[in-house]
Amino acid sequence: MTAYAVIACDAEVPGLGRCMTEDTPLGEPKTATEARQKLRREGWRRTRDGRDLCPHHANRAAA
Ligand SMILES: [Zn+2]
Repeated sequence: MTAYAVIACDAEVPGLGRCMTEDTPLGEPKTATEARQKLRREGWRRTRDGRDLCPHHANRAAA
């Protein structure tokens, strides 16, 4: 069984709802934790309350 870990952005976009940008890191990560470690290098972030943010929204959250 092959499972790809796909991380989706959980940012709330005013008027649009969830961002839902998805990314699957290279290297076929088998767990979400491994996937997040790889995506972090691409600018993704995980918030303290357990939400994933795409690079676009991660930059906003940091500001
Ligand atoms: Zn986003």
